Amino acid sequence: MIRINEHYLKLQTSYLFATIAQKINEFSENNPEREIIRLGIGDATRALPPACVEAFHKAVDEMAADGTFRGYGPEQGYPFLRETIARNDFAARNAEVNADEIFISDGAKCDTGNFQEILSTDITIAIPDPVYPVYVDTNVMAGRTGPIRDGRFENIVYLESTPENDFIPQIPDTPVDLIYLCFPNNPTGATVTREALAGWVDYARRNKALILFDAAYEAFIRDDSMVKSIYEIPGAREVAVEFRSFSKTAGFTGTRCAFTVVPKECMAYDASGSAHSLHALWNRRHSTKFNGVSYPVQRAAEAVYSEAGKRQCAEIIAGYMANADRIRKEMDALGYDYVGGKHSPYVWIDAKTDSWNLFDMLLNKAGVVCTPGAGFGTCGTRHIRLSAFNSAENVETAMARIREALGH
Ligand code: PLP
Repeated sequence: MIRINEHYLKLQTSYLFATIAQKINEFSENNPEREIIRLGIGDATRALPPACVEAFHKAVDEMAADGTFRGYGPEQGYPFLRETIARNDFAARNAEVNADEIFISDGAKCDTGNFQEILSTDITIAIPDPVYPVYVDTNVMAGRTGPIRDGRFENIVYLESTPENDFIPQIPDTPVDLIYLCFPNNPTGATVTREALAGWVDYARRNKALILFDAAYEAFIRDDSMVKSIYEIPGAREVAVEFRSFSKTAGFTGTRCAFTVVPKECMAYDASGSAHSLHALWNRRHSTKFNGVSYPVQRAAEAVYSEAGKRQCAEIIAGYMANADRIRKEMDALGYDYVGGKHSPYVWIDAKTDSWNLFDMLLNKAGVVCTPGAGFGTCGTRHIRLSAFNSAENVETAMARIREALGH
C-alpha cells in the first residue's frame, strides 16, 4: 500500500491569501466602480533593468547558434557569475566568501526550504515569529515538529519579534541547534545591528549550532555602514549559511535566480560528534537534485553587477524606498506606530486592533489591500504589513485614501 508522508497532514492550509482574495472579490462586486490598490504584495512591480534585458537577449542569441550553444551547465552555477558575486557582494565589503562557496539556484525560497534536508530531523530549531512561512512549513514537512496547538507547532522554539524587543528576537536561554534569521526582515522590515548579529554568531559557535541567514532584502539597506552579510561578522564562516536572491534586488521574481553561500569551514556533526563539511553535503545534494539555472538567466544576473546594472538597480530600489518613505510619513501623521520601511520595502504597522479588523477597514473605506500580520504568526495578530512594491502614483493615492479613512 502506498503511504503518504503523514507530517504533511500537520500543515495548516494557508487561509491568508484565499481569504484576502475572497474579501477583495466581495468588495469589487459591491463596488464595481472603485479601483483597488494592492499594497499587500511582496512582488517586484518594475521591469527588469535594461542592462539585464540586454544580457538576457545576447545570451539567448548565443543559444540560437551551434557554435555558442550551451547544454547542461555546472549545477553550482557558471564561474562567471559565482566570481562576479564573490567580488561584488563580499570581497568589496571585506567579507570572506570564495566563488566556489556560492551555489547559484532558481530561488531563495527553494534554498531556504531545501537546506534543512541535509540536517538531522532530530534537532531543535528556533524560528522567528512573525516569519516568512517557508521556514516553518518545510520543517513541519520534514517531521521536526509536533502537531500545531493554538497556532504554534510543538518542538519549535519561537523567537518572538515584538515592540518590546524592537522586533529583534532575543537569543533563547535553552540550547537550539538550528536558527533561522532574516534581515532586513520579512514581514517586519526590521534590521539587525552588527552587535546583535555578533551575539547570534557567538551563541552558534558556543553551542555548535547553525544559523540560516536570509538576506533576500539586503539591497534595500540604505546605510552602507550597516551589516549586509553575516560574513562581515568574525567567526560567522564556521556557523552560518547565507541566502541571497535577485528577486527583489533586480526584479527577478519571474526570471528566477538566487544563490546560497556555504563556507568551507561550516560544519555539522554526526551522532558520534564527528564534524562533517556542510559545503560537501550541500554540493552533493545540489548536484544530485538540481540541474542549474539557465545560461541566459545567469548572464542576466551577471549584468546586475555591471556599471549600468548597478546604477539601474539602485534607481529602481530608490523608487521603491521613496514609496516606503511616503508610507512611513503617512503613518507618522496618522499616529500609527510602525517598524521597517527605512532599510526595507515593508512597513509593519501596529493596527491598534486585530489585524483583520484594520484589513477590512482599509479595504472597505479606502479600497486599499494590506497583508494582515496574523498570516505570519501569532505575534502578527495586531499588525499589518504594507509593501512599497508599487508605483509612486498608486502609493500616493493609497495614502490619500487611508488618510481620509483613518484620519478622523
Ligand atoms: N526569503 C524571503 C524572506 C522572502 O520574503 C522571499 C520572497 O518573498 C524569498 C526568500 C523568496 O525569494 P526567491 O524569489 O528568490 O525565491
